[in-house]
Amino acid sequence: MERLVVAKYHEIALKGNNRPMFERALVQAVQAATRGLGVKSVLHRHSRVLLELAPDADWEHLTGRLKEVFGIANFSLAYRLPADLAAIKEGIAPLLPSNSYVQTFAVRATRNDKSFPLTSPEIQRELGAFVKAHTGWGVDLAHADLSIRVEIVPGAAYLSFGQEQGAGGLPAGVSGTVVSLLSGGIDSPVASYRIMKRGARVIFVHFHAFPVLWGISRDKVQALLEILARYQLRSRLYLVPFAPLQQRLILSVPPRYRVVVYRRLMFRIAEAIARQENAGALVTGESLGQVASQTLQNLATIEAATTMPVLRPLIGMDKAEIIEQSRRIGTYELSIEPDEDCCTLFVPKHPVTRSTPQEMQHIEAGIDIDGLMRTGVNTAEVKDVTFVPLQELPRVERVTR
Ligand code: ATP
Ligand code: MG
Repeated sequence: MERLVVAKYHEIALKGNNRPMFERALVQAVQAATRGLGVKSVLHRHSRVLLELAPDADWEHLTGRLKEVFGIANFSLAYRLPADLAAIKEGIAPLLPSNSYVQTFAVRATRNDKSFPLTSPEIQRELGAFVKAHTGWGVDLAHADLSIRVEIVPGAAYLSFGQEQGAGGLPAGVSGTVVSLLSGGIDSPVASYRIMKRGARVIFVHFHAFPVLWGISRDKVQALLEILARYQLRSRLYLVPFAPLQQRLILSVPPRYRVVVYRRLMFRIAEAIARQENAGALVTGESLGQVASQTLQNLATIEAATTMPVLRPLIGMDKAEIIEQSRRIGTYELSIEPDEDCCTLFVPKHPVTRSTPQEMQHIEAGIDIDGLMRTGVNTAEVKDVTFVPLQELPRVERVTR
């Protein structure tokens, strides 16, 4: 009997013209994520993505990968049967578990093909009676030990016994490209993940203090990207040497204002990179009021340095919530390792919390900010980090409903 994976997406996001683009992007994302795992082909049919499996396909491994593909709401390992009631009964019988914990079951049927002669409730009744007679199990619709799902589509019936929760979100690339400022702390990897999940391709920029300080943060962000590569298979990283620019800034910027001036320069450099990469927005891990640079006034002053939209997916989240999410996506342990990015260089304990753009323009007036911005862009090192498809993956928890 032919095994395949049937994956579904939430159709709610798919009104009108963007639908074919969404479906193509999802097929491509699934193809890329499952390469090397025994998937013969990935097709889009009847509002589902179908993965046809080779006999040696590794379901456990595939489950792990598919759970990290954005755009999938849920998926199941399924068997393809003819769209015919007698054939479905014949197909189900040998697949039912014997000598197992199963005492009760439920059949859930959906009918995507309205020309099929029976309605969904009728299919459920017919198959329910058949399974009961075949096994002696009781029917329990609310808490069944075994859920048997039958989906009738034109020309086929898909039979499955459980469902895995997908990652949700939108497939990679459908929302365009953004540039994320990645610091190596806890917040910015989470912010990047959340925006990836909404279908944006994320390009990363990291500002480091090497060689003035140890280059730890450079290695750290690359390691973070290797983790995030599970969700975005290929990531581009710009590593900008920021210390030389800071050394120039401290000559004219009073200590209290340095953090804000640094951030404004970071935004300008990130914007220039975003324009080169055809990206439409910047992303940060800022959360309102978390530290001095993230007061409402300072957020506004920093943002005034760029004309690009600045997306802050974490703006309304508490630190505890962000930490919880970073644990789930797998970046937390690495994020908390000590490092020194450029932010600790030449800054006082109590930076200004209520800056204004006018004040900043005044302070920056005597500095060749454009020149510093260009230096930043031109001295950046560019790296591409790629997912290694067959690396060891954590075991996944089975969700059976
Ligand atoms: P994170 O945990 O992401 O480091 P944070 O709580 O330490 O955030 P800040 O240091 O104020 O907060 O940084 C705010 C945001 O500015 C970061 O989330 C990140 O998007 C950006 N940022 C800060 N430092 C850097 C850096 N060295 N390189 C790139 N982006 C940075
Ligand atoms: Mg930080």
